[in-house]
Amino acid sequence: MRTVRDRLRVAYGRPVLRPHRAPIDELVLTVLSQNTNDRNRDVAYFRLREWFPGGWPEVRDAPLERVEEAIKPGGLSKTKSGRIQEMLRAIGDDELGWLERAPLAEARDFLIALPGVGRKTAACVLLFSFGRPDVPVDTHVFRVGGRLGLFRPGAPLEETHNELTRLAAGDPDDAYELHTALLRHGRRTCVARAPQCDECPLRRICPYGRSRVRSAET
Ligand code: SF4
Repeated sequence: MRTVRDRLRVAYGRPVLRPHRAPIDELVLTVLSQNTNDRNRDVAYFRLREWFPGGWPEVRDAPLERVEEAIKPGGLSKTKSGRIQEMLRAIGDDELGWLERAPLAEARDFLIALPGVGRKTAACVLLFSFGRPDVPVDTHVFRVGGRLGLFRPGAPLEETHNELTRLAAGDPDDAYELHTALLRHGRRTCVARAPQCDECPLRRICPYGRSRVRSAET
């Protein structure tokens, strides 16, 4: 893992973790990011903030159709508006600042129990909002980690979260770097359909990359 990290650090630099301490913003952003790209997600998010200057309580209590209209540029607005309001109702007036100091498992369990929140979203909130060492595994991290053999073959998503979080060993900067480096690598080089193994700094230590080279030679 250290070799993977060091090589990716040379390729992409070392990302800096800057916790923003806005957990509800992060929760809403992750709902908005489902099935869309970052740009559309951001347009939907900023429209929501602009249309509801009273903040999340105003979004929670607004007519559903108005929330739906505000987030339309992000796609799936009917489903997402319902999810956002349901989540905000479950949170109530709690600002969730206590998640910064609660035991990690307790904080995670609380988030996962919210409607529409899974393990990845919970980890995003904990890591990006509070710098807690939980590693989110999205589709890129899952694919790259699997190809590199960081997980047991066929490991379910939950197990991959546990494994990367274990590798981060309680260090928030390592957790952030692990997530960010694998994500960047998955977007730029280790893409889903045609990974660019020839140009990859990890090809010598990657079982998937080595087997591709072998089968190209035979
Ligand atoms: S060698 Fe290929 S499969 Fe392995 S990490 Fe690099 S791009 Fe991905």
